[in-house]
Amino acid sequence: MNDLALRIADVGLPHPLLVIAARAAIAAGDPDSAADEAHRLRRNLLGPAVNATGVLLHTNLGRAPLGRHYSRAPLGLEAGTDGPVRFSNLEFDLGSGRRGSRTSHASLLLATLTGAEAALVVNNCAAAVTLVLAALARDRGVAVSRGELVEIGGGFRVPEVMEQSGARLVEVGTTNRTRAGDYRAATKRDDIALLLKVHPSNYRITGFTEEAAVADLAKIGPPVVSDLGSGLLDERCAWLGARPDWLAGEPGARQTLAAGAALVTFSGDKLMGGPQAGIICGRADLISLCAAHPLMRAFRPGSLVLDALQSVALAYLRRDADAIPFWRMAQVPVDELDERAAALGVGRPARTSALAGAGSLPGQEIPSAGVELDGDYAAALRANDPPVVARVNEQTTVIDLRTVDPADDAVVTAAVRHALSE
Ligand SMILES: *Cc1c(COP(=O)(O)O)cnc(C)c1O
Repeated sequence: MNDLALRIADVGLPHPLLVIAARAAIAAGDPDSAADEAHRLRRNLLGPAVNATGVLLHTNLGRAPLGRHYSRAPLGLEAGTDGPVRFSNLEFDLGSGRRGSRTSHASLLLATLTGAEAALVVNNCAAAVTLVLAALARDRGVAVSRGELVEIGGGFRVPEVMEQSGARLVEVGTTNRTRAGDYRAATKRDDIALLLKVHPSNYRITGFTEEAAVADLAKIGPPVVSDLGSGLLDERCAWLGARPDWLAGEPGARQTLAAGAALVTFSGDKLMGGPQAGIICGRADLISLCAAHPLMRAFRPGSLVLDALQSVALAYLRRDADAIPFWRMAQVPVDELDERAAALGVGRPARTSALAGAGSLPGQEIPSAGVELDGDYAAALRANDPPVVARVNEQTTVIDLRTVDPADDAVVTAAVRHALSE
């Protein structure tokens, strides 16, 4: 086994992993497959992928793409091997020299971006909602419309999150129509701590429908919490100059707070275009209660996430959408994608439809372009190093360039040439 592991050393994995590959090959009765096993193991490590699906926030590909130049490198990671190794002021107040708060750095920036009094960062939006419910509604009622008791991909189910938090679900209204009066009636007959609105995200109710506006709910009494999920920071999209058509109807965090929500919750890695994080913005007194809750210790993000989130927040404040890969890719004019498709020199240039993804804006297509190949080449493209992930429609492989960095066009060309030649 050890000999076999040594013979496949050029795969470039640490020895214990080569031994695992060798053992698997021997167990399969085919020692010659040890190198293939090792390559398979290597491919399963976390690594970069070229997203040619046209889905900007692809849940399987890490949602929002992270830029290499995210930070000014306060943590020394970007400095690579040249720079000195440094610590950070993660929980250190440089003014007083005392212990500080790890989320205070990003909080001021996020509150400024959304017009909130305060903000708090946790690991993801599911944690944000759980924390808000646990800190503000434990053993009390939370009124939710029957039309918003949704499941959002990856097992986020509103009734189950509610149960885990210790809050009691009080259903109001009907599946298709819920009015402010339904919430008001619940507050009259029950002990209601919060009125919760949940963005249905990847789900739409159409036809004979009605939902209560945040502004009307805010007049009832209990604090209104709006779980926005995808988290467009501001409907005016000042960082783009103007709001793109495909964002029409998506509520902004700033506007939802201005309408009277006490708190909003959203993900950092959906329309915000940042790292995986959950963000709570709104009233300072409620945010303080969330920050002081024991669950905060379990939900707190690490410095890598906070560093990336701070860089994204600073880019928004500079109105520099080009520094946020999600917005940069979303905004590329289609004719530029046409030109790149023609320049690839492989496949048949074609117009395509890209999507925001991650359950945001279902059905809203973003005009796009790329190339098509006759036949299903998805597996061959995935086998490339780095893997190229494409879409297959009825035996046509579609390579959408909206989600491909122009610097990777040559990688796509080489991967397609290789796939076609096999
Ligand atoms: C996506 C989403 C969540 C879950 O967010 P994560 O960051 O994936 O935990 C919660 N609520 C809504 C409305 C969402 O769209």
